[in-house]
This record gives sequence, structure tokens and C-alpha cells, in this order.
Amino acid sequence: MSGIVIIGAGHAGGSAAGFLRQYGYTGHITLIGAEPYLPYQRPPLSKAWLKGEASLDDLYLRGDTFYTDQNIDAHVNTQAVSIDRIGKTVTLLGGITLPYDHLILATGSKARPFPAPGADRVPHHLLRTLDDAEALKNALHPGHRIGLIGAGYVGLEVAASARHLGCEVTVFERESRILARVASPALSNFFTEMHMGRGVGIFTEAAITELSLGQGDKKVVHLADGRTHEFDLLLVGIGALANDDLAQAAGLECANGIVVDAEARASDEHIFAIGDVTSRTLPVYEGRFRLESVPNALEQAKQAAAAITGYKAPMVETPWFWSDQYEFKLQIAGLLRPDCRTIVRGDPAGGAFSVFHLDGQNRLMTAECISKPADFMAAKLLIAKGVALDDAIADPEVSLKPYLQ
Ligand code: FAD
Repeated sequence: MSGIVIIGAGHAGGSAAGFLRQYGYTGHITLIGAEPYLPYQRPPLSKAWLKGEASLDDLYLRGDTFYTDQNIDAHVNTQAVSIDRIGKTVTLLGGITLPYDHLILATGSKARPFPAPGADRVPHHLLRTLDDAEALKNALHPGHRIGLIGAGYVGLEVAASARHLGCEVTVFERESRILARVASPALSNFFTEMHMGRGVGIFTEAAITELSLGQGDKKVVHLADGRTHEFDLLLVGIGALANDDLAQAAGLECANGIVVDAEARASDEHIFAIGDVTSRTLPVYEGRFRLESVPNALEQAKQAAAAITGYKAPMVETPWFWSDQYEFKLQIAGLLRPDCRTIVRGDPAGGAFSVFHLDGQNRLMTAECISKPADFMAAKLLIAKGVALDDAIADPEVSLKPYLQ
């Protein structure tokens, strides 16, 4: 019996299975996941889960009877090892072969390994899966010294959670500021102050030359300037890599992820790819992007399910992302571009403000909003409509609504 095979039971794969049924697909759906869990949400792993504020039930995308109720054949702890595009089959570890009419690749991404000498000998944590998060949670004890390598969103969320748990936290960032690749200098400054104000040590331009083991199992970070720092626990959070090996081995076009079109279709008309593993285009922004966000996973899951079933294609959304650190909720609409000028709307010292990024024609390209949900909602629409703004918006009392008309 053919049908649809989905490889990867994460946010994108699990959602695609649900959308296929919602859009009226009645054929066979098989969902294959390498992890021992049904699809769950990763965002809480660095936040509520670490702090002990979320249960397993809170993490799951759907209730445990959803898959049987919807006649979705979900297999966890099972890995797909090859794709035969001519025979239209997928082979699983252990040799079972599944035929497909359509294949959806939702294999996500994996934590980038730390390349410094000694990283192979010195135990350190990565954070991608629920098992990773559970191991980290069990190792975070009050008073322990935690070293975080990499000041991206995941690293900084862990820093905030670890401080909440009473750990001593030090962050090492290779670039000249935290969040250097993913946020404006204004936002980096804000979070630097927030973290340092809560007792987190931050080293920027920190070139780590080596990791070693110290006395009593301490983990030692060696910096290029000769200084060393000892920790009870190290976490490496230096980004993620696309899990596109299966696709590459099957000869699908890949370029930092599986290349897909606006319907999430890969370079084979019977194969779709969705979520973190894809390289996609977007309206408004030129180029190809590998987005690592829940909204992207959901949007592409809808695109693939719609294309397969003939259901109405979803509206393309302005890409967005969120991060929670301490009491601050960051929401970002749009993608950062280096060629924009910025307008700060509101006062960062008050803990609620937005940074608006305008292109040469004053069109909004990106908005970074701290605890400003109304600015964020407006910005998503303003970006999609290509509306030009002016300097008056620096005043938070100036409404954004008139610009939307
Ligand atoms: P994944 O969730 O990675 O799922 C892919 C699944 O495929 C995995 O379970 C993997 O084991 C499986 N798989 C891979 N290869 C195979 C194979 N050959 N056979 C079978 N199964 C396979 N996003 C936000 O928008 N906001 C946030 O605040 C946020 N916080 C995050 C915090 C953390 C700690 C992490 C790790 C991510 C966070 N993200 C956040 C990103 C978000 O979780 C991802 O963008 C999203 O999970 C992508 O979904 P996905 O299904 O594409 O990939």
C-alpha cells in the first residue's frame, strides 16, 4: 500500500501529518521518527522545561490518541536510511522498505559540533532534543559553575534558565557582541545589559583554543589570551546544521539544506521538504534562506499538505521568530539585512521597545520587538505590504495603524 511517507517526526513532520488529514487526504500516512517520542515542541526545552515548569504532556504537539484517531501510522525510534527515487521507496534501519506516492522530508537540523581541540575528550552538553534537555536539566544544580559556548538564542535562553535555577553562568562568544549573527547591535546591547545585570559573565571576542579536564572532573576553557576558566558543566550552542544527508544521497538538489520551491517541493515532483532542513525563497527578501523556526515549520507543512491534496495554498507569512529570556519576550518579524538603517521606537531602559529596520526606500524589512506585541503584529503586515515608514515612528505614542491603510 503506497501513500505518503513523512521522514522526521518533529514539529514540521508531525504538523504535516495533521494538515494532510485536515485538508482531506484519506490515503495511508506513515510518520517515521528517529527519536523515541511522538512529535513535540523544542522551544520550551531551553526555557520552561529546564526550569521544571513544563511536563512531557505540555511538550507534545498532539494528544497521544491523535495519531491513531487520525489513522496516521506513527513509528518512533525508527530511522530512514535511504531513498530510492526511481522505485519510490524508503528503506528503514533494519531493512523494512516503504513505498510512497509522495515523500515528505522533515528531518530538521542538528546541533553544530564544537571544533576546538579537546572537545572530543571533555564532556559537554548540546541542546537539540528532549533527551539532551533532560540530561542538561539533571546536571544544572544551584551554585554550579556553567560555561556556555556561543551566545545565540539557545545559549542565552539557557543562561537565563540556569540563573533562574541558581547557577553561576559565564557566556563565551567569538564575535564582538552577543547575538551578532541574528540581531541588531541595539538588541545585543539590551540583552547584554539584561544578562550582566542578572549576574551572567559575558566574554565577547573570546577565541577558545582548547578544552581540557581539570581537577575533580572540572571542564577547563582555554582562551587565546592565555586565560583559563573552570566549570562544572559546559554547554555548546554554536548553531545548527541541516540534516540533509539522506536527501543528498538520493541526489536531491541541496545547498545548505534541501532546495524547495514555494510549494515546499524539492527537485523531484514526488518529494517535498519542510522545516529546518530546507533552503527556501521568500517574498520581499532576495536569496535563499534556511529558517530555523516553528512558524517556518508550520508554514511549509501547510504548503506541502496543500500541494499534495490540491487544497488552497496558504498565504505566505512574513517570517518570524520569538525568544524568551527572563521576563522579556522578544518577537522578530522579517529577516535582518545589513543595508538597513534602524529606528529605535521606545526606550530600551524601560524594557519595552522595538527596533525597526528600514531599507533605502524606507520600507520596513525587520522589526525586533521586546515586550511590544502590538508593534510586532503591525510590523508583520507592514513588511508584507512593503509600506514606507518615516522617522515619526520613533515616538512609541505614534500609532502604526495609519501606515497600514
Ligand atoms: P526538528 O524539530 O529538528 O525535527 C526533525 C526530526 O526528524 C527529529 O526528531 C529528528 O530526529 C528526525 N529525523 C532526522 N533524520 C531522520 C531520519 N533519517 N529518520 C527518521 N527521523 C529523522 N523556534 C522558534 O520559532 N522559537 C523558539 O523560541 C525556539 N526555541 C528553540 C529552542 C531550542 C532548544 C531548539 C533546539 C530549537 C528552538 N526553536 C525555536 C527552533 C524550532 O524548534 C525548530 O525550528 C523546529 O523544531 C523545526 O522543526 P523540524 O520538524 O523542521 O525539525
